[in-house]
Amino acid sequence: MQTLRELPIRIRPLEGETEISYLHRLANANALSEANLWSHLRGTDPSLPFKPTAGKAPYLLEAVGGLEDGWFLRSRTRNLLPRRCPHANWKFNTCTVCCRPPAEQPACRRCAHGGDAVVQHRAGPICTKHRQWRYNELDVNIAAVPEYVRAELALRKHLTTRGIGLETGELQLASHLLRDWAKDAGLPSLTERRTALTGTGTPEDPADFFWIFPEAVRVTEVLTDPLFLAYLLDDRWTRAHQAEYLTSVIAIVVDSQSPAHSLPAADTIIHHVNEAIRAAHGMVGTRRTSRACTMRRALVAAARTHRACLLRHLDSKNVRPNPPPPRSSPAPRTRDFAAAEHLPDLPR
Ligand SMILES: [Zn+2]
Ligand SMILES: [Zn+2]
Repeated sequence: MQTLRELPIRIRPLEGETEISYLHRLANANALSEANLWSHLRGTDPSLPFKPTAGKAPYLLEAVGGLEDGWFLRSRTRNLLPRRCPHANWKFNTCTVCCRPPAEQPACRRCAHGGDAVVQHRAGPICTKHRQWRYNELDVNIAAVPEYVRAELALRKHLTTRGIGLETGELQLASHLLRDWAKDAGLPSLTERRTALTGTGTPEDPADFFWIFPEAVRVTEVLTDPLFLAYLLDDRWTRAHQAEYLTSVIAIVVDSQSPAHSLPAADTIIHHVNEAIRAAHGMVGTRRTSRACTMRRALVAAARTHRACLLRHLDSKNVRPNPPPPRSSPAPRTRDFAAAEHLPDLPR
């Protein structure tokens, strides 16, 4: 077995950079091909697969890159998105068994010294250092619109700590509501934003996530606040009232001067969430499971089975279903949902 020596040119990985991305950049910096560097690594560990494979050789990459031992493991642990799991009594925590790193996304090119890097970090689509948007195949400097950086900081501070990432469903739900609002009432702030960034007026596609990102973060902050959710879903209100409250959140966030109008997406979402809460109550009441299902566990389970991401943020003390829950139905097995990938909601 060969001894692995550090490559002459060392580069630091970016925060949350994936191993494959680092392998690629390290090889480029040393004028090697990715395949050459990987076969060099395989020389010391022939059990490695022929193709560069994520997670197979972090210790060897750390050795050739001159990094501290365990760099990739520490980076991965630091960037896990919190979730509710049985290892912390169904409270949000960063359990290394159940939590997953956020979805892969391209890193800011200036941070990667002009190269293409891929990261999985607990942050949004914006590099706050270089004021650069890098997501959804867009690479745009957003320095002229401070709202973007403010939204990015809010996302990092308030949302990622509650397990909300770019692709966990909550931001998609907020965007869905905003798009529905924009269809009838428009989003006045977008014209100003578009003028600042491109010198022209209203964007051709105001529904694009890039244009509504600051609003989507604000709506998500409100919608996933446990106190707001408990109030919104209180059984004192009819579903029509609940949909009205949800619509008024959008009106406040977009600072609309136009009169309130009904929002079909709000009706659908309210109906969907209430159905999921009823299902959670049904799971608590079940007699067919060997262990009692607590409401906190049932809410996490129903968030998955009913694709209702808001339930992950609801405090179990404040849940009352209206109308009454269905007959008991068994909750899924913990292993089927506690560590499963979050799927975006598909409101019916
Ligand atoms: Zn866990
Ligand atoms: Zn940057």
